[in-house]
Amino acid sequence: MTTAKTIAELKSALPEKSWTQDEDKTAPFLREWRGRWQGSTPFLLLPATTREVAAAVKICARHKTPITVQGGNTGLVGGQIPKGEILLSTARLNKIRETDTDNMHMICEAGVTLQDVQEAADNLGLKFPLSLASEGSCSIGGNLATNAGGVHVVKYGTARALTFGVEAVLADGSVFEGLTSLRKDNTGIDLSQVLIGAEGTLGIITAASLKLFPKPRDSARALVAVDSPDTALALLALVRSGDRLSMFELIPRLGLEYVTRNMAGHKDPFLAPHPWYALIEWEFFGSENSQDLVESILVRATEKGLVRDAVVANSQAQSTALLALRENISAAQKPIGATIKHDISVPIAKVPTFIVRANAAVLKHVKDCHPLPFGHLGDGNIHYNIGQPENMTSADFMALEPQINDSVYDIVDALGGSISAEHGIGILKKSQLVRRANPAKFQMMRQIKSALDPDNILNPRVLL
Ligand SMILES: Cc1cc2nc3c(=O)[nH]c(=O)nc-3n(C[C@H](O)[C@H](O)[C@H](O)COP(=O)(O)OP(=O)(O)OC[C@H]3O[C@@H](n4cnc5c(N)ncnc54)[C@H](O)[C@@H]3O)c2cc1C
Repeated sequence: MTTAKTIAELKSALPEKSWTQDEDKTAPFLREWRGRWQGSTPFLLLPATTREVAAAVKICARHKTPITVQGGNTGLVGGQIPKGEILLSTARLNKIRETDTDNMHMICEAGVTLQDVQEAADNLGLKFPLSLASEGSCSIGGNLATNAGGVHVVKYGTARALTFGVEAVLADGSVFEGLTSLRKDNTGIDLSQVLIGAEGTLGIITAASLKLFPKPRDSARALVAVDSPDTALALLALVRSGDRLSMFELIPRLGLEYVTRNMAGHKDPFLAPHPWYALIEWEFFGSENSQDLVESILVRATEKGLVRDAVVANSQAQSTALLALRENISAAQKPIGATIKHDISVPIAKVPTFIVRANAAVLKHVKDCHPLPFGHLGDGNIHYNIGQPENMTSADFMALEPQINDSVYDIVDALGGSISAEHGIGILKKSQLVRRANPAKFQMMRQIKSALDPDNILNPRVLL
């Protein structure tokens, strides 16, 4: 419970800039951007230093006062929205503390946006490869708490693979100092990796030591029209040779139609419609001619009968426009009404089977609904959105969400997949996790939680 005494102690321990109870200032932190969750809090903490975070958590720990943690508030599973808890925003933890081009690392605070990290790396002549459509708003702390994925996982891995270590304030207010920049360190359990992906339930990440990578000399993007997810899979195998492939995204016709029809400024780059598309990106580091290489790869793919048509971007603007077709699919679905969404992964080779089985299952539940499978085929992560039919109200459609989720997740389980590939569990998928997680894994997660946060004060409603 949040008591007046806790709040009074927080006010006297922290500078005035580091908290607010002003309703107008607090309001944007309480709204999830799609309007799915609306929260409440008696007190918003806005600490500017790790020391302030630690002081605040120490007070909350003494009073067993729960805290919800928020970064950029772009999360899609509701974990960042408080329901009566104190809200701690990392927005003012926004400094880049250290950069090192020899060791190729950057230490930045949790509230720095992903885009600012990318730009800082670029200014050093290096690359930070995590890339999400929300990168202008999401924070590094949130990226690590959710182990974010994005479009470059096929080459660089998820956020945890891009991190040397983190600094975090634990539930008793102590500071875990894990800001290493070592590439090798076998001195026991990697505790930073335990905190990454824990969705703020084990500690508040206050800073991170991030891995930087060589910046490619050049890159190329192409949108390739294909017959089916099976063909896209065969194309993936063909274009993957070498280490140049950095993105491989699957887009169905319906997705392209939504973006070009429902959002201003987007155009179908092909003259004729095609059933499926693969958005492909390559990075080039050597002296090879990138245009020639891409063309030769696509010629080989065409000879094998994998390509219906292809557009290779020949300017930065065209390259950006191709990526925008993929990144706007979710937003472009909004005008058609309610959508039931899934963020699943299966072994890459099983993606086509997943799509066939899931489509059959959901169309059995709702005859005229609009399945929209799209996303990261290169790493087996498909965003499986289902749009409501025109002949049904949103409320009636959403009432079917539990049954539809069960059917989709049963297929995911049968294929050896995951019910949350990159967005996390948050509030949204807790009941599914309880039912579907491996019991030993779930018990270990609970044991770790009760060892590190025995009074359950950090993100108490999230994940477990
Ligand atoms: C348009 C759009 C596109 C997206 N695309 C992708 C995508 O491709 N891949 C992907 O993985 N996600 C994607 N997301 C989801 C979201 O952007 C990511 O989950 C992101 O990592 C969340 O970062 P955030 O700073 O906004 O965190 P928030 O939304 O503020 O928080 C998310 C969770 O992390 C916890 N948290 C936040 N900061 C900290 C911290 N410092 N310490 C401990 N816990 C913390 C919160 O309590 C909450 O549980 C997308 C979202 C949008 C809106």
